Amino acid sequence: MKTKKSEKLYQQGLEHLVGAVNSPVRAFASVGGNPLFIDKAKGSKITDVDANEYIDLVLSYGPMILGHRHKKVQKAITKATKKGYSFGASTKDEIKLAKIVCDAFPGMDKVRFVNSGTEAVLSAVRLARAYTSKSKIIKFSGCYHGHMDALLVAAGSGLATLSLPGSKGVPDEAVKNTLIAEYNNLDSVQKHIDENKDIAAVILEPVGGNMGVVIPQDDFLVKLKELCNANGILLIADEVMTGFRSKFGGAQELFNVEADITCLGKVIGGGFPVGAYGARNEIMEMVAPLGGMYQAGTLSGNPIAMASGIATLSELKKQDPYANFNVVAEKIKSSLLKSGKKYNVDLVVNRFGSMINPFFTKDEVTDFSSAQKSDTDKFGVFFWEMIKNGVFLPPSQFEAWFLSSALSESDIEKIEKAIDASIKKVS
Ligand code: PLP
Repeated sequence: MKTKKSEKLYQQGLEHLVGAVNSPVRAFASVGGNPLFIDKAKGSKITDVDANEYIDLVLSYGPMILGHRHKKVQKAITKATKKGYSFGASTKDEIKLAKIVCDAFPGMDKVRFVNSGTEAVLSAVRLARAYTSKSKIIKFSGCYHGHMDALLVAAGSGLATLSLPGSKGVPDEAVKNTLIAEYNNLDSVQKHIDENKDIAAVILEPVGGNMGVVIPQDDFLVKLKELCNANGILLIADEVMTGFRSKFGGAQELFNVEADITCLGKVIGGGFPVGAYGARNEIMEMVAPLGGMYQAGTLSGNPIAMASGIATLSELKKQDPYANFNVVAEKIKSSLLKSGKKYNVDLVVNRFGSMINPFFTKDEVTDFSSAQKSDTDKFGVFFWEMIKNGVFLPPSQFEAWFLSSALSESDIEKIEKAIDASIKKVS
């Protein structure tokens, strides 16, 4: 495997970019070695600057659900660029994408587009506080909701990868209204409710995807919603990762739960910067210009991003790849478990639709602390072997792998072979 050009770019990048990256999850901090620099991608494959081609299971951390440069998306974007890039005024496509999104989430009468998942979440939290006139927020250990101050505690994703309990630069006042509960543990939520009168909202990833994949168990979501309802607390479903990913209507459709406020991102922009938050009319009417909860954005609803989102979601609806995602993910899970058994490597594999990942541990993974028991050194070995065998994975134990509808039968066979060869090296 050639890596000379990536190595050279990494050294050049270090001069003016922190760690040569613009997001810490792209640094190979926990797996060691030189980050790969990407040249291009098409369909299920991604190619680095040294011309190594990989089957892509990162998919830009989720958005590229149709694979890269799907022809309908590309056509829509090209057409949009010919009309202009940004206007600072409303366009027809914003209304079109809003309808697609609201139709997919029954609890959403209105939506507001922003530029990232982080913006969606920080706006949703502000909205919950505005609507309830309360201050406190319950979040779950291991869930990551972007990099807003109040939620950068006990967070998954890059913080888990770098073993950071929180972020420097976040003042105590910013997190004093943040209460931490344990995923899949209603008692830990109840305890906060018993001890605090002032809780505006509970926020969660309805399926954990930032501590590795962690699935809600025993009607956790339904019971959590009941608990919220009984106590006048809003439920914020952060579906930035799960929205449109394993079902068109997100995890809420699959688990039959309706959140009060939903946050979206990733897939809805099809690779362009789009986030969104939405809720019932009575809640969204708090947002300016109708209400006094202020939130704005120079590039929000950007016409190119809207065109990409509309084309992506329309194609996704047409393809309806979700049943097939389950089949493919189950195949990958079986391969992992089979190879684990064959080479005597302890493995737990969690999957939710098209999100999947293995933990190098014996015990079930149901929350952040059980996820953290995974042997990350073994993951590092596994990661590099998968790279050498032509499969691009997130360089962290605590990130989900994603499937795209562009994967072919031969891609899946190649992934299975790569898994077997890589687990062998871990043993
Ligand atoms: N919420 C969840 C569940 C996420 O997975 C992420 C990003 O990975 C975010 C929020 C933040 O989104 P963004 O990186 O677009 O700001």
